[in-house]
Amino acid sequence: MELKNKRVLVVGLGRSGAASAIFLQERGAKVTVSDSKSEAQLQNDVPALLDRGISIEAGRHGERTFRDQDLIVVSPGVPSDQPQLQQARALGIPVIGEVELAFRHLQGKVLAITGSNGKTTTTSLVGEILEKSGKQTLVGGNIGTPVISLVGKSTPETNLVLEISSFQLETIARFHPWIAAILNVTPDHLDRHHTFQAYVDAKARIFENQQTGDFALLNADDSACVALRSRVKSELYWFSRKQEVERGAYLKGDQVIFRRNGTGQPVLRRNEIQLKGEHNVENVLAAVAMSMLAGCTPDQVRRAVMEFRAVEHRLELVTSVNGVIFYNDSKATNVDATIKALESFPGNVHVILGGKDKGSDYTLLNPLLRERVKRAYLIGAAAEKIASQIKGAAPLVHSGTLEHAVRQAFDAARPGDVVVLAPACASFDQFENYEQRGRVFKELVLLLVPVPTGDRV
Ligand code: ADP
Repeated sequence: MELKNKRVLVVGLGRSGAASAIFLQERGAKVTVSDSKSEAQLQNDVPALLDRGISIEAGRHGERTFRDQDLIVVSPGVPSDQPQLQQARALGIPVIGEVELAFRHLQGKVLAITGSNGKTTTTSLVGEILEKSGKQTLVGGNIGTPVISLVGKSTPETNLVLEISSFQLETIARFHPWIAAILNVTPDHLDRHHTFQAYVDAKARIFENQQTGDFALLNADDSACVALRSRVKSELYWFSRKQEVERGAYLKGDQVIFRRNGTGQPVLRRNEIQLKGEHNVENVLAAVAMSMLAGCTPDQVRRAVMEFRAVEHRLELVTSVNGVIFYNDSKATNVDATIKALESFPGNVHVILGGKDKGSDYTLLNPLLRERVKRAYLIGAAAEKIASQIKGAAPLVHSGTLEHAVRQAFDAARPGDVVVLAPACASFDQFENYEQRGRVFKELVLLLVPVPTGDRV
């Protein structure tokens, strides 16, 4: 795409917005960045952009700013149905996201992963398997490194392993992965997508530009994924924990098998997976299918899976104090992820719940709370809503803050119990983001002082 002398507006100055602005400016575009946050709030990024001659509109989205452009690049944090963007589209100005912009300039083959949960874990694992198999590999997208910053490093031989969110898929046009996977679709982000159907539709766009010679991968155990089979235009593969599949990866007894052209190949044993929980078996199955399709051998896949440990904040083991085991699952920002966390332990769980509500239905937690949870500790802005929806399912403690919750859980827990931060909510009411919430949790846990045996009541 020719960018020289084009007027391009970047809307939203997150990590990917700043990277897009620099990319565009380096290619000769006349770049403006517009962000509804004030200049003071944007402090970090502003000087570097101004130094490069990029104009910045902070604290508002001016109407003219959106009118006088040849192209608009929108960040995933900005709702794609925002009025100024609708208006620009009506004027015929192309509105695309950073992933689409990057795709138009990338070299190599794209392996794209979306889903409500498990994207980062699966993306990291696929990246590791490919890398350890000696393939040229770059990992990026929603996972951290914006796709646009991979452009300069990509070559025709590169495998680009990309984590793609539903927000990023809303603003694609030609984005065309060679191998595309949807891991699962459960309600999330309904505050932004409004309906579950709109959310499913956004995810399904990952297949939109695929054709013969490409591969699609779906979760055979997830009903929303099964319903998406009709959207697939490429060769369809499945992964399943519960049933044998004709083409794809599945669990048979304790063996992970990959089947293609009628022949099943054993890849690894289930007990060689170091990650905790059934949901991580699903992530491994998805990663096995993708890397086998990308040309890795079963042995290469097995070795890399065996060495792979939990990504930080994803059911990450922190430590044990007085025999009480602490897990940090701060990334459990929706109800389904919390369900998976609770399912990973047979019982004696103390769970810390709460934060910023995303319009979720917490009653879905009740069966597991009844079955496996000794106490639930409620924190943050969603505490009252959660309390009203789960009361009676487990004893509740209104902790208010994470600090109190950790202390109260530690005081109540017996040796062998598990304390897990799996809040089912976003973090923005009390923390900068889920990473900070997870780090604070780990610090609080590491400050707990073991009580000599016999002193605990
Ligand atoms: P994402 O990038 O999609 O948010 P992560 O790998 O970061 O996925 O995991 C997010 C949360 O979901 C964590 O709490 C993790 O334990 C949980 N999780 C991981 N994989 C799955 C899965 N396949 N199904 C449900 N929950 C999962």
